[in-house]
Formats: sequence, C-alpha cells, structure tokens
Amino acid sequence: MVYDTIVVGIGGMGSAAAWQLARRGKRILGLERFDIPHAMGSSHGITRIIRLPYSESPAYVPLLHRAYELWREIEAASGIELLLITGSIDASAESDALFQGALNSARLHGLAHEVLSGSEVNARFAGYRIPTGHAAVYQPMGGLVASEKAIVAHVNAALALGAQIHARETVVAWEAAPDGDGVVVSTDHGRYEAATLILCAGAWMGELEPLLEARAVPERQVLAWLQPREPELFTPARFPVFNLQVDEGRYYGLPIYDVPGFKFGRYHHLGERGAVETIRRDPDLADERLLRAFAEKYFPKGSGPTMGLRSCFFTNTPDEHFIVDFHPQHPQVILASPCSGHGYKFCSVIGEILADLAGPDGKTRHDIGFLRLTRQ
Ligand SMILES: Cc1cc2nc3c(=O)[nH]c(=O)nc-3n(C[C@H](O)[C@H](O)[C@H](O)COP(=O)(O)OP(=O)(O)OC[C@H]3O[C@@H](n4cnc5c(N)ncnc54)[C@H](O)[C@@H]3O)c2cc1C
Repeated sequence: MVYDTIVVGIGGMGSAAAWQLARRGKRILGLERFDIPHAMGSSHGITRIIRLPYSESPAYVPLLHRAYELWREIEAASGIELLLITGSIDASAESDALFQGALNSARLHGLAHEVLSGSEVNARFAGYRIPTGHAAVYQPMGGLVASEKAIVAHVNAALALGAQIHARETVVAWEAAPDGDGVVVSTDHGRYEAATLILCAGAWMGELEPLLEARAVPERQVLAWLQPREPELFTPARFPVFNLQVDEGRYYGLPIYDVPGFKFGRYHHLGERGAVETIRRDPDLADERLLRAFAEKYFPKGSGPTMGLRSCFFTNTPDEHFIVDFHPQHPQVILASPCSGHGYKFCSVIGEILADLAGPDGKTRHDIGFLRLTRQ
C-alpha cells in the first residue's frame, strides 16, 4: 500500500499529527521505535506546562491560542481530561528577559494578566517563597497538559479513524522515491512508500536527517517530584505553574497531579549534551541534591521527601526556537523539531501545522516563518 503520509516518531508531536491527518481522511502510517507511550524520549513525566504570555517570543502567542482550542478538541474527542488551568507565574528580576518577555507578550497580545512583586506572589500563593524583590507576570490561563495521556488520546483517536500505527518499529533509513515524488521508508520490519513524510523523531532527529545533527542537539534533563510538607498548598487550585529565574538558573514547576509530589526542574540541568545514545539516563544523587537545594530555598513548604526522579531529553536548536519546515532538497519531507525544552504545549497546534504542510498545497494559515530552517 502507498500511504499519503508516514509519520516517524509517535511521541508528542507525531501522535498529534497522526490524529490531524486521520481527521482529514488521509491514509497514514505512524512508526514508533518504543512503546506508546514510553519513557525514553522527551514527552514523559506525566505533565507539561502551558502558558500564554510567552517570554521566548510574542510570535508564539497566536499558535498558543490555537493550541488551547485543539487541546479542548482532543479532550472532547477522547473524553479524557488533558488540560488543567492553574494560572501561571513568570518571575525574575525586573530587568531580566523572563519577566520582560512575558510582560511584552501579554501587552502586545492583550492577554489578561497582573504584575506582582515577589512578596505579592508569596502572599497569594503560600507554597511559593521567591525573592521578594522579583517581578512576576501572573496569567490566569496558564496550566498543565497531561502529556502522556495526551499521546494516548491522540493515538486512540487516530486509530479510530483508520490510521495505522506501529510501535516497536524503528526507522533505519528514508530516501526520496526514484521518480523524485514520494518517499521510501525502511524499518527493522519492512519497507513502506508514501507521498509525504513527516520526521518528528525528537532527540533522534539528527540521526534521521544529518542536516539537523548540529541544529537539534539532545540534552539530558532531570525532573524531581518532592512531597510537600503542606500538600494542600501545592494542589492545582492553589499552586500556579511557574517559570522562575534565580541566581541558580532558570527553573520551572507544576502542582501535584496524578502522582505524589510537586514537580519541578532546571532548564539545561547540568548542560550534558551530545549524541542521543551517549547521554546517561539514570538520575543520581547529584541530580537530586541540585534540585532539592532549589526547592528548599524557594519552595520550602514543598521540599519534603523525594517521590521520584526522571531523566528526559531536551533537543535544542542554536537559538532555542523550534524547527518546522520542508526539507530543503526534498519538499515532500517535513522536518519538525519543536523542543528546546518548551515545545510540548504546542503539540496540538504543531500537529495541525504538520498536517497542513503535508497537504496538497503544502500551505498553513499559521505564521511559522520564525520557525523555518533558513533562519539559521
Ligand atoms: C524534562 C522536560 C521538561 C519539559 N517541560 C516542558 C513544559 O513544561 N512545557 C512544554 O511545553 N515543553 C516542555 N518540555 C519540552 C517538550 O516535552 C518537548 O518539546 C516535546 O516533548 C517534544 O516532543 P517530540 O514529539 O518532538 O518528542 P518525543 O515525544 O520524544 O517523540 C519523538 C518520538 O520519535 C521516536 N523515534 C525516534 N527515532 C525513531 C525512529 N528511528 N523510528 C521510529 N521512531 C523514532 C521516539 O521514540 C519518540 O517517541 C520539556 C521537556 C523535558 C525533557
């Protein structure tokens, strides 16, 4: 059978793309090297933050509005709660890019928001003890996405519409079809043909497409869940998700959800980057100490016993903006590396964009010029 589209990597992005393509009646094949879901890539660890006043660039905000709508659509289609609103805090020294960027996005896009001092944040959300002189943007629409459940929801919805999805099947090579149209994909199980190919293989993008080897670089991350000493202060109703820049680095965190403990991590944890297979996975005592020291200082009521540690991959581009574009030599191939540590919240809309790009005219109504490969 010749497919309309083959999607390589059924993680966060690939599962969403599979559903969007299946909704359009496309014959699709999704190929995933591990189980669905699994804990070997970038999307595990139960939850991810979603936030609107985007400090990284206001250009993401229109995409975020559509992401929220599509999260609600897959929730309705699957009957599973995937998006939980908690509010969000983006806090740093007033002059820092985190606060200034969040404020700029909020103002530019007319987002409901409040500017609070660190003391005001601590008074309103008693689990927090951030520096009193910090400046924060509080935005009521921030929250969390249940990332592993969302992969399952997207895959089940795609399967119900006739998509073919194979787990435990590794893509080992792909090439343009001999006549120049379409692609041929080889796996450890077989060989498949399709009109278009979407590569969204997360930390393995550089292995599947050499062009991305230096532009999509895997990095080890570690997440911690600590059981709060006062758990009622760390529930979704009382604890907004946060991004926090402090002397020790930039950190993020979320309320208790689904498993014991409030969850947090440090962006670019220990800076361990390299080829995906060379990066160590097991969290150790040094990881735990670094993360615990942060919680004891800034979330002391949250820093009870450790409930869990998990490692995970960021895949970083040089400017930390996503890559979503056609392959420069093969326009029937679409490359997607929406990570750099902040991509998950966009899965729902990136799925739609990938389905657009794989469509007959290759056009999308979304403004993704700032995510094109040619910017680098
Ligand atoms: C610790 C951590 C915290 C994060 N926090 C946030 C957050 O709070 N908010 C946010 O928005 N983002 C966050 N991110 C980023 C976000 O999780 C990623 O942007 C997102 O998960 C990337 O999804 P993906 O589909 O590209 O990768 P993945 O979900 O890893 O999917 C790629 C898939 O491709 C498969 N694959 C690879 N090679 C092959 C092959 N050869 N054949 C077949 N299959 C293959 C992999 O097995 C994998 O399933 C975080 C990331 C980490 C690691």
